[in-house]
Amino acid sequence: MTTETITRFSGAFVDGREHANSGDPMPVTNPGTGEVFAEVAGGLAEDVDAAVSAANRAFADWSALAVSKRGEILGAAARHVEEHLDELVPVLTREQGKTLRDSRIELNKAVDTLMHYVGLSKSLRGVHTPNLDPGVDGMVLRRPLGVVGAIVPWNFPTTLLCNKLAPALVAGNTVVAKPAGTTPLTTLRFCELLTEGGLPAGVFNVVTGSGSRTGTALVTHPQVRKIAFTGSTPVGEQIMALAARGTKRVTLELGGSDPMIICDDADLDAAASAASMGRFYNCGQACLAIKRVYVFESVADQVIESIAARAKRLQVGRGDAPGSQMGPLHTAGQRDEVAGQVQRTLATGGTLLAGGAPPEDPALDGGFFYMPTVVADPPHDSPMATEEVFGPALPIWRVKDLDEAIEHANASQFGLGSSVWTRDLARARRAAERIEAGYTWINSRTKVYDELPFGGWKSSGYGKEHGEEAFDFYTETKSVVFGSAA
Ligand code: NDP
Repeated sequence: MTTETITRFSGAFVDGREHANSGDPMPVTNPGTGEVFAEVAGGLAEDVDAAVSAANRAFADWSALAVSKRGEILGAAARHVEEHLDELVPVLTREQGKTLRDSRIELNKAVDTLMHYVGLSKSLRGVHTPNLDPGVDGMVLRRPLGVVGAIVPWNFPTTLLCNKLAPALVAGNTVVAKPAGTTPLTTLRFCELLTEGGLPAGVFNVVTGSGSRTGTALVTHPQVRKIAFTGSTPVGEQIMALAARGTKRVTLELGGSDPMIICDDADLDAAASAASMGRFYNCGQACLAIKRVYVFESVADQVIESIAARAKRLQVGRGDAPGSQMGPLHTAGQRDEVAGQVQRTLATGGTLLAGGAPPEDPALDGGFFYMPTVVADPPHDSPMATEEVFGPALPIWRVKDLDEAIEHANASQFGLGSSVWTRDLARARRAAERIEAGYTWINSRTKVYDELPFGGWKSSGYGKEHGEEAFDFYTETKSVVFGSAA
């Protein structure tokens, strides 16, 4: 039974103001209690059309501004958001489930990413090629694409949005975002704050609603020139197919099953700590997260014991409870999916060393909790080895050497991130060169840097986010030849 008061939201922010969506109300649930606390009207095709039309109208003026001016405006708007972080943090925790600490980390990172691209606005450059022929010069112009659709999942609603928003806006595009139906509130307020902070009307719009209806309407809208998507591989593949009509550009950041290799010469304590942080942060709901560990046999007992002990020590609790280190999963379905993957895996083999069930604490009943779980040596063809596990459950395997570890690491449809722990430079280099993934961390936690381009290989995606390279995915280039004739 719902005891929280239900607040109703109109569901969209279009052309600088609130817009009332026409669709049915969608519930927003607190993952820590299982209670519905808000309803947001879902967007239909006509609402998406209103947002895309506003973005299209705003495009001419926005794209005509000096790049540095766009950066200046976005920077001031981002600072305004930053001044309201205390207001946003509990909203994100309430709708997403993560701890207040993690909400603050996420929101700070989102603002940071906006500011990173504000800084880059003064260095966005094209190419000049002199003397192609005598008296003939070439130039490569960069032009924004137009209206960009940004489709964002629920695990990091604001950072994954800003990875798209920041380079898109600085490059001169306008944006319509669709957050996940289950995390609409922080994004709506974020958009409102950016507008209050000086972003012109129509430059950034939000329409909430379901993926199948609102998302599809955005992807298929004829005035949308590009879709930037983060989410599951099957939905990414559907979007890529839909975007083929109209030859739209796409960037896809999809699922992952990142391997971590721990060699016998590594700093084992630091590696175990990175494994625990990399797997259980955000309750394991991160695309870049340590999802498979391969540890050399000679040090395996020590490492496995250390990781399992860390998992058992983690304080599981509601996101807004003091001392919580790991919150609930985002939905009951997500929790059941992870529990099912663990059960199906253990049915085929492996040893359960921690977790494997929801918490016993009755105070957590109703929330979508699952204890941090560690499974040693399950079969290499079990679900935890072959599927993306999007929750707090970590399989660990013993391997005899680096070659065997790399072979298992690459035996996956995914190629998102990876990490290697060793003090041997030759080993580190060999692993970095041979692992099929868009990122390899060596003796480092799996932290994402705005400075470095990132995008998945294989079924983990297409295109790059972060880095100056992100601009390549929000601009078209045009070659211009200046001839010698008068
Ligand atoms: P989805 O891929 O279904 O959702 C991601 C976003 O796409 C949401 O905004 C969703 O909207 C939207 N969407 C869904 N279907 C369509 C569609 N047909 N057209 C356009 N947009 C659509 O991920 P889920 O939330 O269902 O998560 C499922 C699994 O995906 C997870 O268990 C995990 O394995 C993986 N995942 C990976 C992420 C990553 O960062 N790599 C992030 C999130 C999930 P709505 O939610 O409103 O339906």
